[in-house]
Amino acid sequence: MQLSSNLLRFNEPETLKMAKLSRELRASGIDVVDLSVGEPDFNTPEHIKEAAKKAIDENWSHYTPVPGYLELREAICRKLQRDNGLTYTPQQIVVSTGAKQSIANVMLSILDDDDEIIIPTPYWVSYSEIARFGRGKVIFVHTTPEAGFKLTPEQLEAAITPKTKLFIFSSPCNPTGAVYTKIELEGLAKVFQRHPGIFIISDEIYEYINYAQDGGGGHQSIAQFDYLKDRIIIVNGLSKGFAMTGWRLGYIAAPVEVAKACEKIQGQFTSGTNSIAQRAAITALDSPLSATHEMVKEFKVRKQRVMELLKEIPNIRYTEPDGAFYIFPEVKYYFGKKAGDEVINNASDLCMYLLNTAHVSTVSGDAFGEPSCIRISFANNMKNIEEGLRRIKKGVEVIS
Ligand code: PMP
Repeated sequence: MQLSSNLLRFNEPETLKMAKLSRELRASGIDVVDLSVGEPDFNTPEHIKEAAKKAIDENWSHYTPVPGYLELREAICRKLQRDNGLTYTPQQIVVSTGAKQSIANVMLSILDDDDEIIIPTPYWVSYSEIARFGRGKVIFVHTTPEAGFKLTPEQLEAAITPKTKLFIFSSPCNPTGAVYTKIELEGLAKVFQRHPGIFIISDEIYEYINYAQDGGGGHQSIAQFDYLKDRIIIVNGLSKGFAMTGWRLGYIAAPVEVAKACEKIQGQFTSGTNSIAQRAAITALDSPLSATHEMVKEFKVRKQRVMELLKEIPNIRYTEPDGAFYIFPEVKYYFGKKAGDEVINNASDLCMYLLNTAHVSTVSGDAFGEPSCIRISFANNMKNIEEGLRRIKKGVEVIS
């Protein structure tokens, strides 16, 4: 039996693999603290759940329009105006089964054989895999902790070639928590202005989980620079900001031609996404964001605690995250050293050691294109965070 060579073009996401391994260990009776999670540990706010229940009772049970209900696309346009000062029409919006599908739609719409796609590292695991599936050639550009894990205009300029077709990044960033300021985005935007043929995917799924809100200018979108608007695709969704990962609702705001192309692709793969999730999303987007703000307040307290606890581990360095719910410390001090008989060669070895011996799960930076770091999620309650960090500390203490 021969399966398709398509499968060779990408790997299983490392993040989901770690979650699966910790579930398996737990099922075998071992108490694992899971700091590998990529989703809020909060429940979906009540008013959104109520809207979904009402939608069921009102029989919103039929196929939905491929790009999403018009009322939802209108609500998304209102959100973009209210939160981002951006004007879009419903024809520019396509709603999908999670932001992941939105990204896949866009990449499949834009990329052709050997088109180059620039991805600053560290990056979210699926960008490179989906791009390869879309037949693009991935060009990684390395950012460093010293630069706050942010790409500079000079690095961007140097990476662009006549074959560059697409650029993708997230701000706030998964896995680093880096948040680009308006000035930093403008620096990149000016480079793109000199290179008209390049599309830009701005993944803003962590928009609301932003700790810079208090004084750092809050969330900024690269779509604010009008001269780029005809080639920017904003990707966003309800997973993170509304604690709705399982509802599977993402969307793009894009030039009409790109939106139409995505609709065409989605029309063959999945059609319009779940009707009940869409009705609930209208309520989520049109309501005050108080539940989101409460959640972010709690993430901020946890972030401070994680940093305090990491400071107690002498050989781990970290950059303070300004957004999302991850911290991405450098752990290379441990490479080449031993824990008992086990040699820790790299971040993957360290993560597997921490999982199997200290019973705490994290994700190796390899998965995000940065092999000297690991990702620790603080989307878990304080008790688990403190216990998880205690286990990491104890686990690495015996490495020498
Ligand atoms: N982009 C980033 C940066 C993410 O971290 C995730 C989820 N982990 C997604 C997109 C996909 O989100 P969704 O649940 O809406 O598919």
